[in-house]
Amino acid sequence: MQNIGAYGVELQDRFDSLDAVDLATGETFTLDAARCGFGYRDSVFKHASGLGLAGKAVITAVRFALPKAWRPELGYLDLQRRTADTGIARPDARQVFEWVCAIRRAKLPDPRVLGNAGSFFKNPTVTPEQCADIIARDPNVVHYPMPDGSVKLAAGWLIDACGWKGKSVGNAAVYEKQALVLVNRGGAEHPATGGEVMTLARAIQTSVYERFGILLQPEPVVV
Ligand SMILES: Cc1cc2nc3c(=O)[nH]c(=O)nc-3n(C[C@H](O)[C@H](O)[C@H](O)COP(=O)(O)OP(=O)(O)OC[C@H]3O[C@@H](n4cnc5c(N)ncnc54)[C@H](O)[C@@H]3O)c2cc1C
Repeated sequence: MQNIGAYGVELQDRFDSLDAVDLATGETFTLDAARCGFGYRDSVFKHASGLGLAGKAVITAVRFALPKAWRPELGYLDLQRRTADTGIARPDARQVFEWVCAIRRAKLPDPRVLGNAGSFFKNPTVTPEQCADIIARDPNVVHYPMPDGSVKLAAGWLIDACGWKGKSVGNAAVYEKQALVLVNRGGAEHPATGGEVMTLARAIQTSVYERFGILLQPEPVVV
C-alpha cells in the first residue's frame, strides 16, 4: 500500500490491478493502477480523507504484469557504478540480483541482527529554485531532477550533513553507515522505546529544518 520502490523500480511499474473488500459494505471491488493513485511511497491506501481508502478497505489480491522478455533496469546510480566498475554492460538476472544484495548489505543493517525500520524519512522534493539555493550553500548536496521538473533530495545526505550519523537518544540511534536508517541499539533485552525513536526523529527534523529549511516527513506509519 506504500508503492514500495528500490534500485530503480517501484511497485507501480509492474502493477496490474488489485482486489479489495470495502469494510463498510463487505463488497469486493477491483482497482487498476490509475485508481490506486500511486506516488512516491504513496497510494490511496495511505490517505483517509477524500477518495482515500486508509482503514476503509482490505486488499485481498494483487496482480502483477511482468515483461515476457527480461531486461535489466540499470537506472539506479549504484547499479550504473557496478556496470562501470565490472565492465559487465549486459548483466543477467542473477548478476543484478547479486549486485542489489551487495548494495543493500552495504547500506542497510540486517534486521535479524540490528532491529530497524528501514528508511525512516522520505526523500523530500523541492523546486529547482530551492535546490539551487541549497547547492549555493552546500555544493555536494545529493539531488535528482524529476520528470515533473521538481528535484528530489537525498534525505540521508541532509541528515548526515547535520552530523547525525551514529548519534543516539537512549537506545534509538542513527545507523552509522546510512543516516536515513534509525536502529534499535538495545536489542531484545533493552529495546528502544517509541518515545526515544520519536524524540530522535523530531530532533533530526528540527536540525534539518534549521539548516536547510526542509521539513522531513517520516516514512513508517506511526501508531
Ligand atoms: C529493513 C527495512 C528495509 C526497507 N527498505 C525499503 C525499501 O528499500 N523501499 C521501500 O519502499 N520500503 C522499504 N521499507 C519499508 C517497507 O516497504 C514497509 O515496511 C513495508 O511495505 C510495510 O509492509 P508490511 O506488510 O510489513 O507492514 P504492515 O505494518 O503490516 O502494514 C503497513 C500498513 O499497511 C496496512 N495494511 C497491511 N495489510 C493491508 C491490506 N491487506 N490491505 C490494506 N491495508 C493493509 C496496515 O494497516 C498498515 O497501515 C523497508 C523496511 C524495513 C524494515
